[in-house]
Amino acid sequence: SKAPVTLLGLGDMGTALARAWLTAGHPLTVWNRTPAKAGPLAAEGARVAASPAEALASATGPVVLCLLDDDSVGETLDGIDLTGKDLVDLTTNTPARSRLRAAWAEERGARFLDGGIMAVPPMIGRPETGGYVFYSGDRALFERHREVLEAPTGAKFVGEDAGHAALHDIALLSAMTGMFAGITHAFALVRPEKDLDLAGFAALLAQWLGAMTGMTHEMAAQLESGDYTEGVTSNLAMMSAGNDALLATAEGQSVDPRLLTPFMELMRRRVTQGHGEEGLAGTVGLLRGE
Ligand code: NDP
Repeated sequence: SKAPVTLLGLGDMGTALARAWLTAGHPLTVWNRTPAKAGPLAAEGARVAASPAEALASATGPVVLCLLDDDSVGETLDGIDLTGKDLVDLTTNTPARSRLRAAWAEERGARFLDGGIMAVPPMIGRPETGGYVFYSGDRALFERHREVLEAPTGAKFVGEDAGHAALHDIALLSAMTGMFAGITHAFALVRPEKDLDLAGFAALLAQWLGAMTGMTHEMAAQLESGDYTEGVTSNLAMMSAGNDALLATAEGQSVDPRLLTPFMELMRRRVTQGHGEEGLAGTVGLLRGE
């Protein structure tokens, strides 16, 4: 028989997780602040706890938290006996708050694993979509409950520092934000052109961005070795000079360059410091104030 799971939080994500565990045959106990959200899951076989304390008291397997934010986790578990419990916190958090929450849980005699979900609810229970959760903290807890954790979506353990799941999660989302900024700028450039097919342009854009992601490996190798000229395919002096054409074109198309200029300024500064032959790795240190 499958391991039991206790889940606190039945928002969009919690409900998707609950369905995936029920579908995989795990006995499931759920609790949600607004009880009505548990109704459909009860009909699908979940046991509904009347309070977080009741859910915790009967929990023999992992207790998964999928609440709005870390404050809701604190409020929900306030005053409850956590001794000997295995907490898996999938609530989105900063690395610092995750570390504090881990210490808070350990002070109360619980084991703690933090998670950062790299999926949206429709991807849960559908492994072919490539979604997964970053986990960090108690490695033994992760190994013990691996089967449960892998039932709804993929699971990647990224270290015993409880903050590392959140750090990975937020680093990926930060990179995505920069990419979306670039995409937004690109559409602003082409938008006014009457004879330009946006769907066709979108396909070209997606293919180009995909091809350029290889840059991540080049930068990692440079940062590891400390030689920022290692394996450089496009050097900073060339890229920085090319930025002038990007800015002139933005102006010509009446597009505000504000999404690009801070990064271009960083590239120029590194070139000015005499590092034009490097790749992009040197801008990492500049961003860190080194
Ligand atoms: P929802 O807004 O749909 O649900 C929020 C949940 O938190 C509800 O169950 C709500 O209860 C509960 N809640 C809020 N405040 C409190 C509180 N003070 N005490 C107790 N319970 C509280 O959010 P999601 O389910 O979408 O997200 C849950 C977590 O998953 C978040 O941390 C989110 O960042 C993360 N996540 C979500 C993704 C998504 O695409 N949805 C993607 C990746 C991560 P009630 O029903 O009573 O309001």
